[in-house]
Amino acid sequence: MYCVNCPAEISRAHVETAATGHAWGEWEVVKQASANEEGLMRRVCANDPGHVEEETIPKLQPQTSLFQRFIERIREFFENIIEWFRRLFRF
Ligand SMILES: [Zn+2]
Repeated sequence: MYCVNCPAEISRAHVETAATGHAWGEWEVVKQASANEEGLMRRVCANDPGHVEEETIPKLQPQTSLFQRFIERIREFFENIIEWFRRLFRF
């Protein structure tokens, strides 16, 4: 503390200020992801339980064989051709 009229120091006291910022806990899985639905995980701040962070867990990729992927490519290819004709002849 300093005098308001001159630069003299009046008193000095150690003041501890609260640490600001988050103290995030571990991520907890709220909902497991499946092949059809995204999952959800959440973590809570130790300083303030009102601070909550959530993140989605991506859908699980179904195990596809090389053959299935090959068929999928062919299907996309023909879909694109059909789309192209559709635009060309406007049907
Ligand atoms: Zn926080």
